[in-house]
Amino acid sequence: MQIHSKLPHIGTSIFTVMSGLAKEHNAINLSQGFPDFDSNPELLELAKKYTCNSFTQYAPMPGVLALREQIALLIQNCYNAVYDPDTEITVTAGATQGIYTSIAAFITKGDEVIVFEPAYDCYVPAIEVNGGIVKPIELHYPGFTINWNTVKNTITDKTKMILINSPHNPSGTTLTENDLLELEKLIAGKNIIVVSDEVYEHMVFEGKQHQSVARFKTLAAQSIIVSSFGKTIHATGWKMGYAAAPKELMQEFRKVHQFLVFCVNHTLQQALADYLKNESTYKGLHQFYETKRNYFQSLISSSRFTIEPCTGTYFQVLNYKNISDEADIDLAVRLTKEKGLAAIPLSVFYTKKKQQHLLRFCFAKKEETLQRAAEIMCTL
Ligand code: PMP
Ligand code: GLN
Repeated sequence: MQIHSKLPHIGTSIFTVMSGLAKEHNAINLSQGFPDFDSNPELLELAKKYTCNSFTQYAPMPGVLALREQIALLIQNCYNAVYDPDTEITVTAGATQGIYTSIAAFITKGDEVIVFEPAYDCYVPAIEVNGGIVKPIELHYPGFTINWNTVKNTITDKTKMILINSPHNPSGTTLTENDLLELEKLIAGKNIIVVSDEVYEHMVFEGKQHQSVARFKTLAAQSIIVSSFGKTIHATGWKMGYAAAPKELMQEFRKVHQFLVFCVNHTLQQALADYLKNESTYKGLHQFYETKRNYFQSLISSSRFTIEPCTGTYFQVLNYKNISDEADIDLAVRLTKEKGLAAIPLSVFYTKKKQQHLLRFCFAKKEETLQRAAEIMCTL
């Protein structure tokens, strides 16, 4: 049998590779983004409470209504925007499924999709597997900013979608109000859908506001927002997320969603619906992670790494040009094997594997983990 791969250039994700290597070499794992501390015991109690016969069967296709109502409240509360839980919000199996579903619902052969690089790893394969053409635009380094003139010049009659991500993984930067206004202006009156990956929405630092597309009425009318509870409630393994979009877009989204997963874990949806009633579950998160960011930065301030600006997410990008000339992937592998510390190289998030001497470190870790990592980093 001859297999014609739909994704001939795609290998195993860098997160799987680096976490596997970290495990194999017993290294401190600051590579794949997940907390190494416990979730809130209240959340776990709720999961236990709802692990009963009433919720062992299918949930409603778009999600448990009580949870969709909580999501609508969260969006209204944070961004002053109204989404109808009945027709405009769908609970997904993590943001990954929300992003894939958005792309599969709207992208057909030959459609162009603009992505900004470095780009989170699930965007490009999802576009390609659906026959779309990826139009990468590099974020301007340093600062990882968008040149909106370049975006304007990249848009053609075939442009069907623009994928944005703020706070941004892997760079740890955030879009400004002005960025969103530029985007709104650029696509106004055009048949272009924005997919806005906002999984780190509650992790924006230094008193800044998260610029959700939900805040911009005209833009929101053409956008699908995707978010993940994994980040917000410190439970990445639950793979729970959601998508929010105007009714006409959500209708198409659900056509694909129902045949991709049909519905999402019933027990955990019930638990989340209760847990989110307490706003502090997400309102205090930025302070929590800003403290961790500051702590990590202080621990490595005497190292030879250069600290790149980090205004959101739980990732700190560091420049290692004062330490080594190696390619970032080589250094990441060597650090894991020889020094016992795993990080993520940034080049893998570019279609052209751009070398910038940058590594990404996840600081969603206990203080003691960050201390042990910093001890190693200060010896390099
Ligand atoms: N988008 C970004 C930018 C991410 O960092 C992640 C994973 N952390 C996802 C999407 C996927 O989220 P989930 O684990 O909920 O599928
Ligand atoms: N989003 C996580 C990160 O950026 C990884 C999730 C995954 O392994 N797919 O590290």
